[in-house]
Amino acid sequence: MSATWDLPDFDDHEGIHLFRDPDAGLSAIIAVHSTHLGPAAGGVRFWHYPDSTGAITDALRLSRGMSYKNAMAGLPMGGGKAVILADDDRTKTPEMLRAFGRAIEGLGGKYVTAEDVGMTDDDMVVIRGETDHVSGLPVESGAAGGDPGPYTALGVYLGVKAAAKHVLGNEDMTGVHVAIQGVGSVGGGLARLLRKDGAQITLADVDSVRATALAEEVGGDVVEPGAILSIDADIVSPCALGAILDATSIAALNCKIVAGGANNQLAKREDGQRIHDRGILYAPDYVINAGGIINVGLEYLGQGDREEVETRIGKIPERLEQVWLESEESGDPASDVADRIAQRLIGRG
Ligand code: NAD
Repeated sequence: MSATWDLPDFDDHEGIHLFRDPDAGLSAIIAVHSTHLGPAAGGVRFWHYPDSTGAITDALRLSRGMSYKNAMAGLPMGGGKAVILADDDRTKTPEMLRAFGRAIEGLGGKYVTAEDVGMTDDDMVVIRGETDHVSGLPVESGAAGGDPGPYTALGVYLGVKAAAKHVLGNEDMTGVHVAIQGVGSVGGGLARLLRKDGAQITLADVDSVRATALAEEVGGDVVEPGAILSIDADIVSPCALGAILDATSIAALNCKIVAGGANNQLAKREDGQRIHDRGILYAPDYVINAGGIINVGLEYLGQGDREEVETRIGKIPERLEQVWLESEESGDPASDVADRIAQRLIGRG
């Protein structure tokens, strides 16, 4: 009989906790990858999975990513992630959320949740009724916390500028062509920030109405979703889905830099080597997109305000620079170098 630790994505996770509450309609998994640096922090995803192995795999992979992201962001937090298995019609009820809150409470602070795909800050308020181990709650202006999207966009923006400085020689974005895949919370925020700097923006989104509206607002162009990764641009910024960088898409890249907010951009670990071999600078996703977790992490820890969040997000460029320099010195891909640094930080190096 095989067990969870036989799954390819099992990485000596400290715990994988399964919860079912039939009365509340809850089936959930909480994966705690590491608590070496502090409570395992990472959002909860509400998603319909074809089978439970897919859900466990997602939780394993995402929780390890959170260990790396939180460590690289300098947060005193470990890595965890939860998934709530949605049924076919994706019904989410307050009873289900409260049962999930009780499940978190049962872990006694080992896991701290926040919103991820399919969850909102209102959902966090319901969960908060059962446990204190929750962040991403609505906050007063000036305080740390609340919607992580704009903070993620800010960190990605600073990372894009750092990459431009590294490759093009300066941070001046005037006329620098940035192609953005996905114009939601992160991609949209990035486009608006870059436009103020005079960058040339090309956008794509499966929601063409959304892409066109943003292009009109910021004065950019729109291309078909299938064309965005291969257009001739200085920088390609994936801000939609994961696993979009594979052997085919990397061979077709026509840019100098890949730097975007999407989680898990590399389809496989060896795709980091492929980008490196093409001489394209890659900003490891969990380093550049840490702005949101910095925001909700400081909210949970009760450390500082919005200004402190922005100060810490301002350190993302130097972390990227450290990765790129070590990559140049060692000849290893930036993605492997980032993994190595993160593993050292969580005591697994
Ligand atoms: P969002 O849902 O607000 O926006 C995503 C956009 O991508 C949507 O407009 C959607 O239509 C578009 N999209 C989906 N598939 C596409 C495709 N194939 N081609 C082009 N566009 C496509 O999500 P978001 O919060 O902006 O997050 C974007 C990415 O950044 C995700 O990978 C997410 O995991 C990651 N991320 C987000 C945060 C955050 O704070 N929101 C933090 C870290 C990482």
